[in-house]
Amino acid sequence: MANDADKDITNESSIDHWKMSWVENSIPFHLLEVHPSLGRHVDKLTKGRDNLTIFFPLCGKAVDMRWLAEKGHKVIGVEISDVAIKTFFKEANLEFTESDIKDGEGKLFMSKDENIKLFQCDMFKYKREFGGMVDAIWDRGALEAIDVDQREFYLKLMLSILKLDGVYLLHCFEFPDGAFETGPHEIKQNEIVEMFGPKCSVDKLEDYMLSQAQLEFHGIDQDTKIQGNVYRIVQK
Ligand code: SAH
Repeated sequence: MANDADKDITNESSIDHWKMSWVENSIPFHLLEVHPSLGRHVDKLTKGRDNLTIFFPLCGKAVDMRWLAEKGHKVIGVEISDVAIKTFFKEANLEFTESDIKDGEGKLFMSKDENIKLFQCDMFKYKREFGGMVDAIWDRGALEAIDVDQREFYLKLMLSILKLDGVYLLHCFEFPDGAFETGPHEIKQNEIVEMFGPKCSVDKLEDYMLSQAQLEFHGIDQDTKIQGNVYRIVQK
C-alpha cells in the first residue's frame, strides 16, 4: 500500500474533460430522482442500521446524497468539480462552508449541520484521514467512469476506508460495443469477482434492462440493449 500511495495515477486530461463537462452542463449521467436501484436496495446498503456514514466516490451532484442525509445518515463524497459540488448544495437548498484540506489536495465543502461533507479533490489523491472510515459505499457511475488501469488502485482505496462490517453496493452496466458514445466502461460479473478477489464476497442483487424512457433520457439508440446490474460486496 505504501508504494501504491506514492504512485501518481492521476489522469490529468480526463480530469480536465470532466471539469469542462460540468462547466458546460453536459452531464447526461445526472439523474433528477433518487437512483431506482438505490431506492430498492437501501436496506441492503445500511443493513437496516441508522446514523451511518455513507461514502460516494465520484459523487457529482447525485440527489441520492441528500436523500440519505435526510434519512439521518452522514454523507461523504469526493468529486473533482467544484461546479458539481456547489450546484449540489444550491439545488438541495443547503447552506455550506468551504475550507482548504491539508496537503493542498483540494477543498472541503460541508453542509452547515456537518452531515454532508464533499471533498473537492482527485479521487486518486483522497486519503482515509480526510473523512475517516465509512459504513457503506454507494458506487454508481464511479468504478465504471475511471480508466481500466486505475481500477486496482481505486478498489484498494475503497476497501481501505470501508469498515470490516460495511457494505459496498456497486451499480454498473453491460452493453454491446459502441452503445455509449463516451463512457461508462462496461464491467462484467466475472471482472468484479476477479477484482475483489479473495478479500470479498460478491453477490448480485438485481439486473434489469434500461427502459425506453431511460434510453431516451441518456440519448441512446432505442434498439440498444443495456443491462444494469447491482452487486453487493462485503469483506470476508
Ligand atoms: N456518481 C455520480 C456522478 C457520476 S459521473 C452520479 O451518480 O450522478 C462521474 C463523476 O466523477 C463526474 O461528476 C466527474 O466530475 C467525477 N470525476 C471524474 N474523475 C474524477 C477524479 N479523478 N476524482 C474525483 N472526481 C472525478
